[in-house]
Amino acid sequence: MCAMTPTSTSQLRVRRPFDGSVHGILAASGPEDVQAAAARGREAQVAWARVPVRERARVMTRLGRLVLAQRDRILDTIQSETGKARLSAFEEVADAARAVRVFAQAAPGLLRPARRPGAFPVLTRTVEYHRPVGLVGIITPWNYPFTLPVTDTAHALLAGNAVLLKPDSQSPFTALLAAELFAAAGLPEGLLQVLPGAGRTLGPALVAEVDYLMFTGSTQTGRTLAAQCAERLIGFSGELGGKNPLLVLADADVRAAAAGTVRAAFANTGQLCISIERAYVESAVYDAYVAELVAQVSALRLGAGYDWAVDVGSLASAGQREKVAAHVDDAVARGATVLAGGRARPDLGPFFYEPTVLTGVTEDMALCRDETFGPVLSVYRVASEDEAVARANDSRYGLNASVWSARRGPEVAARLRVGTVNVNEGYAAAWGSHAASMGGAGESGIGRRHGSHGLLKYTEPQTVAEQRLFPIAPFGGLDNAGYATLLARAVGLLNRLP
Ligand code: NAD
Repeated sequence: MCAMTPTSTSQLRVRRPFDGSVHGILAASGPEDVQAAAARGREAQVAWARVPVRERARVMTRLGRLVLAQRDRILDTIQSETGKARLSAFEEVADAARAVRVFAQAAPGLLRPARRPGAFPVLTRTVEYHRPVGLVGIITPWNYPFTLPVTDTAHALLAGNAVLLKPDSQSPFTALLAAELFAAAGLPEGLLQVLPGAGRTLGPALVAEVDYLMFTGSTQTGRTLAAQCAERLIGFSGELGGKNPLLVLADADVRAAAAGTVRAAFANTGQLCISIERAYVESAVYDAYVAELVAQVSALRLGAGYDWAVDVGSLASAGQREKVAAHVDDAVARGATVLAGGRARPDLGPFFYEPTVLTGVTEDMALCRDETFGPVLSVYRVASEDEAVARANDSRYGLNASVWSARRGPEVAARLRVGTVNVNEGYAAAWGSHAASMGGAGESGIGRRHGSHGLLKYTEPQTVAEQRLFPIAPFGGLDNAGYATLLARAVGLLNRLP
């Protein structure tokens, strides 16, 4: 049993973005449910912390197999709640299945107690442990409703914690399905509890109960939660928004760069924190790149469907469609040029919007600097690599970047102020490298998921130092002055050691 039985009387009605029909109705949790779940989670966590890491890891390995085996059911649920194309939903399934296995393989090594040099050789035996923080709160958005809850939860559990998961109100059934799979993989009861409901109501209750909060969502909500966590002095990690740049340098394979841009800008209908919204293209390849890009974008198949014949799905909600349209309409009214797309498509479904490419975007347009979080790409011509780097860095965000170049990728990456750089790929290479960290600089967030950071943040480092034979104080009749002389000699000797 993973879902709480809520005590509140309010309900969540989840509608399908494809056509507005009802996917399901469930009772929303209230603050008192959070308190009850926290008590239950803390009780379960005590026993879980004693389970060897290798055994915890086996649950995650089984989970990876189950995710693949049940992929059709997962894909149907994700698509129904979000309206995304099946291929975009499949990226979540593949990502979750692979990530949990990578985490499971790495966790025993990363969590192993480590001998450290003690205060004095021989006299002090020092070991550093990674203790679980206890109870982890995880708040997730609707855009990746399966892989974000699964992967964050897997890391928190591997570290020995219990989890309270609050999914977005648009995608609670996907989160409940994920919890069902954890249980089927052998996770003991009480360690993962799903609390569907409004963020504003449940957020403060969650912060009041947990020992660490992992949040994925908007920068605005991230700020609010970070301040609440600071008040309680608990750890906080926030994966927030982005306005991610792509650089096409003069030595790039233009056709491959255009194809990569299309994937990076329009996968998940552009509702991807690491998706590309700005392209800076060196003059030498600008015309060829733009022609190729527009041809490829125009060939994308847009539609509602649970089969594989669609490239780009619906936006998730009316709010999303309105924000995208507002950015494009404002840019066009101020003089931007639409090279592809640029229209809502109510004939396909209530929230559809065409993959859109614009040029002539200027500083006075909201599209220039604000995150659109939709299928809209602005293309800019630049005179040099230096200009491309400077303009890419000229943002309050710093999440992901993509560099297309035959030779210059790693060098340019070193100059970009972002958490991940994909060279000759748009977003999937860095994101899918689950053993390496992922996250953002600036207003894109704080902390990291994936890799060692993603696991160890859910632990409290504890140093245990055992003193033997002599105390670290005057001993054996030495007075303070004699002890100070001895200690000075000892420190001098230690400092001469290589
Ligand atoms: P949002 O911040 O409105 O909502 C995200 C989650 O927070 C939801 O579960 C929501 O119910 C909850 N929430 C809302 N207000 C809350 C509050 N006051 N207290 C506690 N919880 C609250 O975000 P959104 O607009 O739905 O999601 C899109 C945003 O998420 C975009 O900005 C996108 O870039 C970002 N995002 C980032 C990543 C990443 O890894 N960096 C991944 C996915 C999405």
